Amino acid sequence: MPTNPPPPKVDLHTHTHPSQPMPGVISIQSLSLSTGISFPEEQGLYYSLGLHPWELPSLGDDALEMLEYHLDREPRIIALGEAGLDRRCDTDFALQVHLFEEQIKISERRQLPLIIHLVGAQDELLRLHKKYSPRSPWVIHGFRGKPSSARPLLDKGLYLSFGEHYQGESLTLANHFGRAFLETDDQATLPIGSVYELASSVLGIEEEELTQSLWIRAQRLFSGRICWQ
Ligand SMILES: [Zn+2]
Repeated sequence: MPTNPPPPKVDLHTHTHPSQPMPGVISIQSLSLSTGISFPEEQGLYYSLGLHPWELPSLGDDALEMLEYHLDREPRIIALGEAGLDRRCDTDFALQVHLFEEQIKISERRQLPLIIHLVGAQDELLRLHKKYSPRSPWVIHGFRGKPSSARPLLDKGLYLSFGEHYQGESLTLANHFGRAFLETDDQATLPIGSVYELASSVLGIEEEELTQSLWIRAQRLFSGRICWQ
């Protein structure tokens, strides 16, 4: 009997841009309009694209138009982001909220998950979540908060993605809700395998089991837009 290939590890959010898929890994490469965009011919690569709060001042007035332009042309962009709210950066907060709301609307219209950068603005995020009642999933990436911060987000149906540093209890809680993911973010030398290894010991489950369950979870999150072999 033929055996199925083992499921891939999913790196939900990375700023590393290999031009070929890494063996055993599906990564969602985060792209930014300000650093230039290219799409290798290679199959098996996936992207997210959005307007990050840090880069808003350097973008032109046509940033939303450019975003839609790329979304129209590249089906391998399977998520919007990273987009979000950051009270500790210099970008005017009202501008952040405005462009985040525009990206919420795009993610709803195109039914793409939204990958969110969130710093010091959880109340505002929950206010917007209530305002829009989004059908597309929202994922807070690089979550480092306490379980008491994780809880209200999980209660509202949001996903949390964990990278190099996080509170183990928050990961455990998010995974209990079936809404945890793992990522390497901007840590170019951190293999996603190490993040899985640590998470499996934090969660007290075998790495194969964790890999399998996050793979199933990712296929649902991206509505089957990701393929493996
Ligand atoms: Zn990032």
